Amino acid sequence: MHIEVNNLNKHFGQFHAVKDVSFKIEKGHLIGLLGPSGGGKTSILRMLAGLENPDTGEIRFHGEVVNHVRPQERGIGVVFQNYALFKHMTVFDNIAFGLTIKKTPKAQIRQRVMELVELTGLSGFEKRYPHQLSGGQRQRVAFARALAPEPQLLLLDEPFAAIDAKIRQELRTWLRELIERVGITSIFVTHDQEEAIEVADEIMIINQGRLEQKGTPWEIYKQPKTPFVATFVGESTVVDQAGELKGFAHSRNDASLKALVRPEYVEVGLDHEILLDSASERGRVRHVHFRGSQWMVEVEVGRHRLMTYRSLEKETLSPGQDVKVLIHRIFLFNDDGGRIAE
Ligand code: ATP
Repeated sequence: MHIEVNNLNKHFGQFHAVKDVSFKIEKGHLIGLLGPSGGGKTSILRMLAGLENPDTGEIRFHGEVVNHVRPQERGIGVVFQNYALFKHMTVFDNIAFGLTIKKTPKAQIRQRVMELVELTGLSGFEKRYPHQLSGGQRQRVAFARALAPEPQLLLLDEPFAAIDAKIRQELRTWLRELIERVGITSIFVTHDQEEAIEVADEIMIINQGRLEQKGTPWEIYKQPKTPFVATFVGESTVVDQAGELKGFAHSRNDASLKALVRPEYVEVGLDHEILLDSASERGRVRHVHFRGSQWMVEVEVGRHRLMTYRSLEKETLSPGQDVKVLIHRIFLFNDDGGRIAE
């Protein structure tokens, strides 16, 4: 389903929870709504679902305005983090639920449920009750139940939040593949950047009620439009006075410029080591953290602290050591948050 949202606003009392949000989503895409807690992600999802009315703005499905269409008539499936299964019903009956209330003929229900049981890897579990399943299996039942009535849009609110890390990782890949196979337009809410990057075709960054940026994970990482996006997706250090980084004495060397430096664009080395280019800064190592596959080094340059990675094969650095520092690339933002250069 093709979705278009124009100038959506929502207040809760005096509180402006969703501010002028507009976007379009292509049919079949998987979109991640990403942002900090309280930013408005769930409110946007609930308005798409028809569970909440926008104050102003338009929601179009296939070009038709659906603002006044009731939730059950919008052709959507929902999976919420706490969207509990019916405890007294078997897996089969849970999945069949949406079809049963639509009075679909029994044989047809059976066929569709068995298709979904197969698709979600739940064969053999049809007769179990929710308490006889693991968290991951329960969530798969929730997906199957949402998909049973063949919705055209699937809305997922933190679908993996209640599941432990290892299973969550498996479910992400599973979900991506499932959605590709079914070919259904889907939107999921998450506050986990890694999850959004791994799963989504496109990410929408939502902060304080606003849509800060929409793009593929790579675009968002590579071309962040605001300091918020740059710090929320990928690691970066904020330098409030960019002019102080010698290598970047920019023509717009205004004290008010803010710079964001990603660790992967910073290189440090001992004096006998060769860096990719001649280093323009001197720095002092402050902390060295072991990160599993590499070191994370915190280095002091003037009054700024930058982070960088260092390969395990290289000589181990220790706090207090003097190093050369090479900054390959920074993002510059002006006062009102617009990105002006890199
Ligand atoms: P989270 O990740 O914590 O779920 P979110 O980005 O989904 O956050 P929303 O749940 O959309 O954010 O909430 C946005 C803001 O609106 C929050 O400050 C929240 O307290 C407020 N809010 C949401 N629903 C209501 C409501 N029914 N009444 C009053 N305030 C609400």
